[in-house]
Amino acid sequence: MKITEHLQKAESTLFSLEILPPLRGKSINDLYKVLDPLMEFNPPFIDVTYHREEILYKKRSDGFIEQIPKRKRPGTVGICAAIHNRYKVDTVPHLVCGGFTKGETEDALFSLHYLEIQNVMVLRGDALKSEVTFVPSEGGHNYASDLVKQIKDMNEGKFLFEETANEMSTDFCIGVAAYPEKHFESPNLSTDLKNLKKKVDMGADYIVTQMFYDNQKYFKFLDMCKEEGINVPIIPGLKPITTKGQILALPPRFHIDIPEELSNEISKAKDNAAAKQIGVEWAVQQSRELMEYGVPCLHFYSMSRSEAVTAIAREIF
Ligand code: FAD
Repeated sequence: MKITEHLQKAESTLFSLEILPPLRGKSINDLYKVLDPLMEFNPPFIDVTYHREEILYKKRSDGFIEQIPKRKRPGTVGICAAIHNRYKVDTVPHLVCGGFTKGETEDALFSLHYLEIQNVMVLRGDALKSEVTFVPSEGGHNYASDLVKQIKDMNEGKFLFEETANEMSTDFCIGVAAYPEKHFESPNLSTDLKNLKKKVDMGADYIVTQMFYDNQKYFKFLDMCKEEGINVPIIPGLKPITTKGQILALPPRFHIDIPEELSNEISKAKDNAAAKQIGVEWAVQQSRELMEYGVPCLHFYSMSRSEAVTAIAREIF
């Protein structure tokens, strides 16, 4: 079922989550151990992230440096199919522009369609670590909005190559990302919102936000989206803090603020277990307020660990 249908049919706030594919060479059973305890909260859908290759540099015996592309977490589509098979839950593979030509993307979308995966989360992706800014692949897309347009075209039976038989069309429900504290490359939030509107105009059906720790920023963001004419559902993304180190690690990685009250409390925590307890309590408070506000769904960035998200779900669902 499409995410938009899940949202329309819901009688109360839904609980969904995002997981990462296992690290290369790790067992899928590790992922099942994360998901098994969370199934009691009936997530209607689970997102599976996509991870681009990283370039490793290896010195060869002849002195030359060899570039070796290596994907740390392969298998997004396979993981989606496996989760759907095991739990009968809808899965949402993340698709990125970086590293793909439009033709390769079209091939991947055909595979998803044959697997009866109906939802995709469409992203531009970040720059490679070896690049300063995002560089699109030759024959690939510059922005997530371009990829949304390609998928929308496929939904209308329009394919890249004229000679493609057009006896079918896809029917993907398309999610896109948004940033209540603005995307880090954008000069300001208003410009970022105009670019978000482009994604919606191109055909995005719903939005999931970057994590945030101050609900007021999300509420203000919703108002600004409304003013901009963005009328699709905007699902809040939440990530409980689980270690002391995260108050320094999360802001530069995700370009978000951690409120002073939360960062002070976490700094004073005697160890990671105490920090996790504080992080869970904060997320519970945030979730309660968001539910009162009437958000359609709470989307948890589990980082493929279940304890904190399970503890929050126990409190609020
Ligand atoms: P875009 O919407 O293309 O925007 C990128 C930047 O370009 C923004 O600053 C925007 O304002 C600007 N922009 C957009 N259109 C235009 C235009 N036409 N002209 C000028 N400027 C423009 N990354 C992964 O690699 N894998 C994942 O699985 C993944 N999942 C994510 C899930 C969520 C919910 C979120 C919030 C992020 C996720 N990311 C993931 C991170 C994401 O790839 C990065 O944040 C990336 O830098 C931007 O992606 P985007 O889709 O928001 O890009």
